[in-house]
Amino acid sequence: MSEPVRADLARLRYFIASAFESVGMPAADARTVASLMAEADLQGSDGHGVIRLPQYVKRIRAGGVNLHPEIQVIGDLANFSHQTGHPLPGVSPVAMQQGRHAAANILGMLDGRKPQRFWYWDKGSMATIGKNKAVADLHWLHFSGLPAWIIWAFVHILFLVGFRNRLVVLFQWAWAYVTFNKGARLITRNFQSEMRPPK
Ligand SMILES: Cc1cc2nc3c(=O)[nH]c(=O)nc-3n(C[C@H](O)[C@H](O)[C@H](O)COP(=O)(O)OP(=O)(O)OC[C@H]3O[C@@H](n4cnc5c(N)ncnc54)[C@H](O)[C@@H]3O)c2cc1C
Repeated sequence: MSEPVRADLARLRYFIASAFESVGMPAADARTVASLMAEADLQGSDGHGVIRLPQYVKRIRAGGVNLHPEIQVIGDLANFSHQTGHPLPGVSPVAMQQGRHAAANILGMLDGRKPQRFWYWDKGSMATIGKNKAVADLHWLHFSGLPAWIIWAFVHILFLVGFRNRLVVLFQWAWAYVTFNKGARLITRNFQSEMRPPK
């Protein structure tokens, strides 16, 4: 086994930051990333430390890394897990909170302030699973069936943007409800064993 290499922490940070700056990363960002990578080495998490530097530099040179952190990714497109260690689910409360947060960040940055970190306020989840059927998990209260479906529908309409949208959706839902018209068709065919790929 090879001997571990010892390096002065300040010099290590400077080295990493300089490498990033040389490929176009803004100085403040380069210093932040350098600190995090050096910290990873200190914590013994080598896989995220300086050993990654050549790979990151190569990726930046190839245009595969966004050097503009002012661009925000939110909603279903984002993978965000710093709060719990688990990625936040792709549901509308996450997308709405992230949307508001991103808007506030962009306005703040226009005023010269730094973007703030996102914290998710988990008020619970609701999902509809069919006509008159839904599940609601409000942490302190779990319920399902018709009551959950009515509340799901009410909350859904409440959060739509604009009175006209609310009215249109309400009308469409009412029409679909009385005519049994299915908005989305689900594939419910049984899984066929012969569809499995050959071993
Ligand atoms: C069938 C289904 C049922 C769901 N049920 C629930 C539920 O019961 N409860 C719940 O909390 N969540 C539910 N979700 C999840 C919820 O809808 C999503 O998490 C939420 O809509 C994500 O919001 P978003 O803004 O990230 O993306 P979206 O709502 O998908 O918005 C992205 C928008 O960008 C537009 N767009 C895409 N590409 C471009 C482009 N190139 N240029 C311009 N515009 C573009 C799209 O048209 C779309 O309007 C459900 C999702 C699905 C598909």
